[in-house]
Amino acid sequence: MISINKVALITGASRGIGASIARRLANDGFAVVVNYVGSENAARNVVTQITEAGGRAIAHQADVSNAASVSTMFDQVESTLGNVEVLVNNAGIMDLQPLAKADAQHVDRQIDINLKGTINTLREASVRLNHGGRVINFSTSVVGLKLENYGVYAATKSAVETLTAIMAKEMLGKYIRVNAVAPGPTATELFLNGKSDELIDRMAKINPLGRLGTPDDIASVVSFLASTDGGWINGQVIRANGGVI
Ligand code: NAP
Repeated sequence: MISINKVALITGASRGIGASIARRLANDGFAVVVNYVGSENAARNVVTQITEAGGRAIAHQADVSNAASVSTMFDQVESTLGNVEVLVNNAGIMDLQPLAKADAQHVDRQIDINLKGTINTLREASVRLNHGGRVINFSTSVVGLKLENYGVYAATKSAVETLTAIMAKEMLGKYIRVNAVAPGPTATELFLNGKSDELIDRMAKINPLGRLGTPDDIASVVSFLASTDGGWINGQVIRANGGVI
């Protein structure tokens, strides 16, 4: 039986890395909020998996790019489960284009969700998180790899890395640790969609460990950062990528 006492809010937890994080933190003893934007059934499935394993979870629809929806989400979570202890800013999208084709929609959507979405939850977390809480943002190892076509996406994530370091300083006196995880290529829809089998195989083979990351590889790092053992890590970006950079 899992002993549950703290609340973890994971944005974009209906699929991919976020769903693994939700299951992992529930197993670690957190009551988890499975945020999603459109995939209601998938989010409910994650909640069912957690509750059937003896954990506690609720699903909550909110578009992170909408500041009012994010504020309402925090209100509802606080009244249902209590104050948030751990915020995981995992929700994100990726749209690959060379800069020559970076039209307004391509730019705005990625900035709205990846950057403004993170700012929207960080603003709420700054004033609402329990003292001693944790914020775990999501960047990407492409910030280091600097691959062609990833320009706008990587730029939004570079900004998230900067926000991470600054918020860690702003939490002075609250003991809230603020870090970012920067995965390398990880086998989810975000990475796999639109790529040929041959390209996926090539990208797996350039990794010193010879494979893509899995969502559970990344959830393990988040679990550590959310744990007591991770308490001396603050203001950092952890590249979790098997050594690809
Ligand atoms: P994914 O499989 O595409 O899942 C994305 C999740 O984000 C879904 O749960 C989706 O919800 C949610 N989401 C999208 N827009 C949202 C919005 N406006 N509001 C709330 N939720 C929203 O992606 P993933 O690969 O797990 O990526 C998770 C994070 O890791 C992202 O920040 C991504 O940039 C980062 N990352 C991934 C990789 C990789 O190779 N996979 C590498 C580096 C970094 P719905 O299901 O409701 O649409």
